[in-house]
Amino acid sequence: MIEIKDLYKQFGNTPVLQGINIEIKDGDIYGLVGVSGAGKSTLLRCINGLLPFEKGSLKVDGVNIQTLNGKKLREFRSTIGMIFQQFSLLERMNVLDNVCLPMRCLKYDKKKMLEKAMENLELVGLADRTKALPRELSGGQKQRVAIARAMALEPRILLCDEATSALDPNITQSILELLKKINRESNITIVVVTHQMEVVKNVCSKMSILSQGKLTISGEVKDIFLNHPESLAELLGQSVEFPKKEGKVYVEILKSAQGKDGENVISEMALAVKVPFDIVWGGMDKYRDDIAGNLVVEFEESDWEAVKKFLETKNADWRLV
Ligand code: ADP
Repeated sequence: MIEIKDLYKQFGNTPVLQGINIEIKDGDIYGLVGVSGAGKSTLLRCINGLLPFEKGSLKVDGVNIQTLNGKKLREFRSTIGMIFQQFSLLERMNVLDNVCLPMRCLKYDKKKMLEKAMENLELVGLADRTKALPRELSGGQKQRVAIARAMALEPRILLCDEATSALDPNITQSILELLKKINRESNITIVVVTHQMEVVKNVCSKMSILSQGKLTISGEVKDIFLNHPESLAELLGQSVEFPKKEGKVYVEILKSAQGKDGENVISEMALAVKVPFDIVWGGMDKYRDDIAGNLVVEFEESDWEAVKKFLETKNADWRLV
C-alpha cells in the first residue's frame, strides 16, 4: 500500500506539490492525471524515493521512505519498476542486454538472470527479438522491452510516466492490455501518470486529478467521469452545456452495463409513465470493467411531476440539469 499524507515539495522557493493525500491499495491500477506542469512526474519521483520532499509522509507498505538511505534506499528502489514516455533503453545494447541490465547491476547469477530476462521477454511478446538493437524496433516494441526491463527485479510497484504518450492509438491499446495482464497475473500495483483520458478510463480503477501541485479530486474513475466535476471539465477543456428549450425539463440519468437494478430506467419509464420524451445529450463510454455513461432526457414541463414520481420509485442515479 502507498500512503501519501500532507506531502509538500518545492523546487527552490517554488512549491510544486502542496498537501497531497493519496492512498493506493495493493494491486490497484491508479491514475494520476493533470495538465503538463501539474506536478505528476514529481510525485512519481517522490514515490520511488528519487526526490526528497519538505513536509508530510510517504509510506510504502508501512515504511516511511524519507527515513531510508544508503543500502536500505537502494533495496527499496529495487522493489519499484518504472517506464517512461521515451523508453530510456540503452541504444548500444541489444534487447536481451537491456532487460538484463538491472539484474547485472545487482550481480545476479548469470543463469538466473538469463532465465528471468527470457521469461519477461516471453511475457511482453518479444522473445524472438533478443539480438535486436532498440533502433531496429518500433515504439510499441521499445516500450515492451522497457516493461520487461522494469519487471526484471520483480517489483511490487510499477510506475508509468506518460508511457503511452508517444504511441499511436492501436499500439497504446496493446500496451494497456499488457499492463492489465501484468497487473492481473502478478497483482503488482501500477501507478499511471498520463494526460490521456482514454488511458485512465481503460486501465485505472481509481484516479486523482492534480492541478498546479494540488489534488482537486480523487476517487473511482467511473464515478469521476460520470459526475463530471468542474476539475475534470477544466482538464478536458469541455463543458457539459447543451441547448435547452423553454417549457422543457432535462433529467440526466446515469447508466451502467454492470449497474444496479433499475438502471433500465429509460425504457421502464417509457412503459410506465407513457409521456413523450427525447434523449438529447450524453453518451456511453468504455471503462476498465464496465460500459457506462450519462443520458440527458427532455420532457414537457407539464409531464415532470409524473416522471419525478416514477423516478423516485427507482433505484437509479439521476439529477435535474
Ligand atoms: P508534470 O509531470 O505534471 O508535467 P512535473 O512534475 O514535471 O509536472 O513538473 C511540475 C513543476 O515542477 C513544473 O513547473 C516544472 O517546471 C517544475 N520542475 C520539475 N522538475 C524540476 C526540477 N528538477 N527543478 C526545478 N523545477 C522542476
